[in-house]
Amino acid sequence: MQTLVREPVTAWVALGANLGDARQAVLQAFEALDKLPGTRLIARSRLYRSAPHQAQGPDFVNAVAQLDTSLSAPALLEALQALESEAGRERPYVNAPRTLDLDLILYGQSRIDSPRLQVPHPRWRERAFVLLPLSDVCPASVSPEDRARVADQPIDLLFEDSP
Ligand code: ADP
Ligand code: MG
Repeated sequence: MQTLVREPVTAWVALGANLGDARQAVLQAFEALDKLPGTRLIARSRLYRSAPHQAQGPDFVNAVAQLDTSLSAPALLEALQALESEAGRERPYVNAPRTLDLDLILYGQSRIDSPRLQVPHPRWRERAFVLLPLSDVCPASVSPEDRARVADQPIDLLFEDSP
């Protein structure tokens, strides 16, 4: 796998957790993302709380991180999955509750459609828990139509915990 790209790329990662200390898992993940090889955390959204959407279990804590990274998209995905494992992620069944989920939403202008990695993430525009935190860090990528599409999905700011 080609692990490095020549020019750093801006990438957006959606963070979600709904098992254990979900808020702590998301805050730790921001720090861990900043420590990935060739990668810097440029911006982090506020923290949100959302009811499970196409998933199960307790409410989620959600956020989005904006990165500058020299990792290739497949190498970044591999690094994200390693961080999920370190956080104790298990996959007993599809959409099971998770200690940490890190999804690569956008990777520069790249379009990737391989069995292991699709970018832009195929469902990001259907999910309030991606669109609202993404609009904190990259307002230009979320349109009024996007917001209207997800307006019925319950999501709140996690006020006491916002950075
Ligand atoms: P979820 O869809 O609930 O996030 P997982 O985190 O278990 O489920 O991911 C399932 C699979 O989705 C992973 O094994 C990964 O290969 C694949 N995948 C495809 N595109 C992406 C992406 N853009 N970001 C993260 N995972 C992706
Ligand atoms: Mg995932």
